[in-house]
Amino acid sequence: MRYISTRGQAAPRGFEGVLLAGLAEDGGLFVPETWPTLSPAEWRALRGLPYAELAARILTPFVGDAVAEADLRRMCDEAYGSFAHPATTPLVQIAPNTFALELFHGPTLAFKDVALQLLGRLFDHVLAKRGERITIVGATSGDTGSAAIEACRDRAAIDITILHPRGRTSDVQRRQMTTVLSPNVRNIAVEGDFDTCQDLVKAMFADTPFRTDMRLAAVNSINWARIAAQIPYYAYAALNLGAPDRAVALAVPTGNFGNVLAAWAVRRMGLPVERLIVASNRNDILTRFFAGNDMSMRAVEPSLSPSMDIAVSSNFERVLHDALGRDGAATDQAMQRFRATGHMPVPDAAWAEMKNLFHGFSLDDAGTVAEINRLWRDAGYLADPHTACGTAAAAALAPSGIPVIVAATAHPAKFPDAVERATGIRPPLPRHLADLYERPERFDVLPADLATIEAAVRSHALRNAA
Ligand SMILES: *Cc1c(COP(=O)(O)O)cnc(C)c1O
Repeated sequence: MRYISTRGQAAPRGFEGVLLAGLAEDGGLFVPETWPTLSPAEWRALRGLPYAELAARILTPFVGDAVAEADLRRMCDEAYGSFAHPATTPLVQIAPNTFALELFHGPTLAFKDVALQLLGRLFDHVLAKRGERITIVGATSGDTGSAAIEACRDRAAIDITILHPRGRTSDVQRRQMTTVLSPNVRNIAVEGDFDTCQDLVKAMFADTPFRTDMRLAAVNSINWARIAAQIPYYAYAALNLGAPDRAVALAVPTGNFGNVLAAWAVRRMGLPVERLIVASNRNDILTRFFAGNDMSMRAVEPSLSPSMDIAVSSNFERVLHDALGRDGAATDQAMQRFRATGHMPVPDAAWAEMKNLFHGFSLDDAGTVAEINRLWRDAGYLADPHTACGTAAAAALAPSGIPVIVAATAHPAKFPDAVERATGIRPPLPRHLADLYERPERFDVLPADLATIEAAVRSHALRNAA
């Protein structure tokens, strides 16, 4: 399988190139040159497989010959063996035709583990084959950092340094990062806020000699491999509810549009997905777009579902490219205008096509608290604030007569304050994290100074390479 850039200028490449590159050099995102599709009989044959085997089968055409089949299978077994539920991503019925697809049984209690647990292994495998090492640097306000650290810990070819704003993450969030004592992991508490951390990371990538020397890499959600690794759970859920012989709808709490893109992808591969419900919090750029072709940037407002607090959704570009007839020049032009003016011009025909499939919904904080309370009262189900946006969207917008699957993106214990406020119950951490508060922590406190941070990253990588 080859991948092309949404902006049409970068040279096509295979899976390995796409995995290591992240962003294409023309600024676009990689998408499959042609989509692999399965016939109804082929889908039926996947029913009932253990999750890891299903994942390996679905990923095989995307990976192509970059990774041997047996290696891919082993990596899926290892990645999903780290989940605390034997079904990996269990389906839980929460209303007559509504099912929560629980994606939060991984090591850091959020859906990002599903992709990142596999990605860390894929990176390590490909780098070992090439005899190369990379240094991953990232900034986090809480959640992404811990998922990236868990994915990269103890991997021979990877060093990872994560910057977090000192004293500004929750205790759970900080401890999920700083109690990982693997030698290839370094946590830095920066004297500053999240934007300061992000600026430092950007500055490291912009420092070309440093970037080249350290072989800096990122594991952010525009990496195609992350999207691909999220496709299997939608297939798993749909197959369990009768697809391909029955249609389903999917409701996805959305920030950067990565998770909903994977839901779109499973439809592209031939499963009957009748509707994609895009759930947001008060940061409602996508809701405004699907309702009235208004894709315009506004300042980010903090909410109870911080992982969905976004001004723009980077992965939307992949669906736009498709709706524009895979015209790279047109996609490039729309994205350039968006960046320059804060408003994305989308031709009405392309918008109408998207709107047929995607339905947007947004929920403010009061609505989120009410929804968590409603789920607890009606179904005895404790949902985190992100998931609650999804269940409320499903209740409002699901087509009648078909099952709707809501992506449950975080464990309620990850956001205990909001859940307690809504239900009076403080959800306990699951068993594998129950001793989180007793584990020793390790991190360095450093000033927000580029030279100091770069020196720390460098000394860490050198020590591990030795
Ligand atoms: C990252 C995240 C999201 C948003 O996912 P995208 O792929 O960026 O749309 C939603 N919920 C939780 C809990 C997350 O961590």
